[in-house]
Order: sequence, then C-alpha cells, then structure tokens
Amino acid sequence: MTAVAKPITDLRINGKRLWDSLMRLAEIGATQKGGVCRLALTELDRQGREFFVAQARAAGCTIRVDHIGNIFARREGLRPELPVVMTGSHIDTQPTGGKFDGNYGVLAGIEVLNTLNDAGIKTQAPLEVVVWTNEEGSRFVPVMMGSGTFIGEFKIEDVLVQKDREGISVGQALQAIGYAGQDQISTSGIAAYFESHIEQGPVLEAHDVTIGVVTGALGQRWFDVVVTGSEAHAGPTPMPLRHDALLAASHVVQLVNRLALDHAPNARGTVGMMDVYPNSRNVIPGTVKFSVDLRADNDETLAAMVKSLHEECAMIAQKGQVEIALNQVVYFPPQAFAEPLVEAVRNGAKNLGLSQMNVVSGAGHDAVYLARVAPTAMIFVPCKDGISHNEIEDAKPEHLEAGCNVLLHAMLNRAG
Ligand SMILES: [Zn+2]
Repeated sequence: MTAVAKPITDLRINGKRLWDSLMRLAEIGATQKGGVCRLALTELDRQGREFFVAQARAAGCTIRVDHIGNIFARREGLRPELPVVMTGSHIDTQPTGGKFDGNYGVLAGIEVLNTLNDAGIKTQAPLEVVVWTNEEGSRFVPVMMGSGTFIGEFKIEDVLVQKDREGISVGQALQAIGYAGQDQISTSGIAAYFESHIEQGPVLEAHDVTIGVVTGALGQRWFDVVVTGSEAHAGPTPMPLRHDALLAASHVVQLVNRLALDHAPNARGTVGMMDVYPNSRNVIPGTVKFSVDLRADNDETLAAMVKSLHEECAMIAQKGQVEIALNQVVYFPPQAFAEPLVEAVRNGAKNLGLSQMNVVSGAGHDAVYLARVAPTAMIFVPCKDGISHNEIEDAKPEHLEAGCNVLLHAMLNRAG
C-alpha cells in the first residue's frame, strides 16, 4: 500500500503559527497603546531583522543582504537556474505604527515556506522572501528606499548619504546595525513578485469581502503650494481691499476635493498639511503654504486633474488678489499589475472559497516599484475600520490566514 498524497490544492497554511509570529515580532518596539514603533535602521529594526533571519534560517533559507540592507531569504528550487518567485514587504514602521503594516507580508512569506516544509513540497523555481529597507520613509527619505534602490529608481550613493534629524546617514545606520550588505542582486531573474498586505483602507470591510485582488496602484502627483497675499490688520482693512492668502487657500482646498469627486471612484484629492503666516488671530494671513496630493488610476485622469488645478488656481488667485504658486514635488505613474499574477491571486481566492473583489491600491507599496522590473501583484486583506499607520491598527486572524493561503497558492501557481 502506498499512501496517497493529499492533492496540493488542499494545502493550507497554519494560521495560528502566522499569528504567533506576528505577535512576537510586534513585541520588538511595542508601544503602550498596543502599536509598534520600529523605525528604519534603528537598534529595534536590527532586532526585527534578526527575528526574521532566524525564522528564515529555521525554514532552511540562505540569506543575502544587498547594499541598501534589503534581506533576501532563499529557499532553493528543484531547478535553481529558474527565475525566482518572490514575496515580501517591510518591517519598519511609522513612529505610531501598527503590528500588521508590512510585517504581515514578510511573515506570510515565511509561513508559506514553513507550510511547504511541513508538507515536504519542493517547488521547481526557487522561492524568496524579502525584507525591503525603509519602506515608511519616516526616519529617512525617500519612502520605499530599499525597493526603489533595488529597481534602480534611486542611486545607492545618493541614498546612503541621506540623513535623519540627528544627522546620522543611511550608510552609518546600516553599518551600525550590521546590515550594510555586499551582495549584488539582479532584478532580471524574478519570475513573479507577490506582496500580501493589509488594505489600509475601508473598502473590503465595507463590502464584507475577505480578499482584495489588487489590479494596480493609483498614480500620484504631489504639489507644494504657496499662496502669497499681504498681511493687514483684521479690523481697519475693509473686505474688498484684502489680499487674504488663507481665504484663497480655502478655495483651493475645496477645489482639490471637487477634482477628486469629479473623477470618482478611483481618484483622490487631499490637502493634508498647511502653514499659515503669521498665524495670528487679528492679522489677515499674508502667506499660506500647503500640500496637494492628487491620485488617480490612469494618467489621463491625473493629467486632467492637474490641468484643472492649474487653471482654477489662476482664477482663484485673480479673484482673491493673491498669487498662487504650484510646484510639483512627487510623481508616481499609475501602475497596473501583471494580469497573469492578478489572475493567480483571483483563482487562488476562488479555489479557497473566499469572497473577493478587485481593488486598486491607493497607497504606495514596495510592490509598486517591483512592478517596474518584474511581473507583480498584491493581495489585500481587511483591517479594522480601514485604519493603518496608527497604533490601534488591527486585523482579524482569519483574514490574515486567508490572505496567506491565497499567497501560498498564487506562489505555487508560478513556481511549479
Ligand atoms: Zn506597508
């Protein structure tokens, strides 16, 4: 009698093991309010990295570290010459971050490897789990530094000299934690990159859906805006004779909101930051500086929003007798994910009997950079009230487990 092996479609990850590893990693940099503060390239980041490396080694992986400190944990395939099937995310957090943002994508990758080990399954293609350095951009800018450097968006010599508020450079910080790696890792041999992530938005929860099949990421254009009027006494200056910079700015805030609503549902418009000068209750504001963040799922829409922003700002300036200067500071093109991988995620969810819907990622992710050099897709799972970048960030164990099962089968689909 030979034992009949269970079909591979029946393979499931161990949800409790995944949850336990998330909770253990969350102890490193745990905050009073139940969140995590583990800023990039700090001593706590080092401890988090050591936790990951220990888990990966225990799963039989070899470890490589590149010049920007990205960690690549490799489980060899039956055919090592095949391009690798990769997954990963980041383990740095915001100062008031949560337990799941990034950490979930990394530890879900480890759980996939452990599941394959338990079942004695070898894949044709090698598998790798990656930790990308400094995704959050909180201590060092730019955001998504590790993945951006990996794909050639940033030059290594430029990022290594970036400094934090204390004047410590990325290069010094990498040395200090022992992650200034030497390994040269090519972007050419990647068959697929999957990233599982909490949604960080409210859509899945609102639809009571477990799996977000991410079809792509919104393009982004960010502006610095300066409105220049003139300060004057709030009492003696009659209304028609004012050059009120804040009044004009308030019209721009309304405009930004309307631009996004005009291109619903996949457009966004946000003014999130504002400085008012002189910020005194009896002075008409003379200067207002603020940010504008426009996002859309295609470049035509984004361009149309920008065109309207310029045109209508000119009208607001004229009417308000002020000057408005717009300076674009960030442009990320909209990024569609690879259809065969998106399909693998969709089918994975379908075969597991999980509810699913198409979503677009409104936020930046390492996957958005990876998509420029390799076929890429993402798997979203709901998070409580859509809240992230917050210590109360929360997710249900069963959703995390479901997303990890989708990751498992999507990776198997590509790795053979
Ligand atoms: Zn993240």
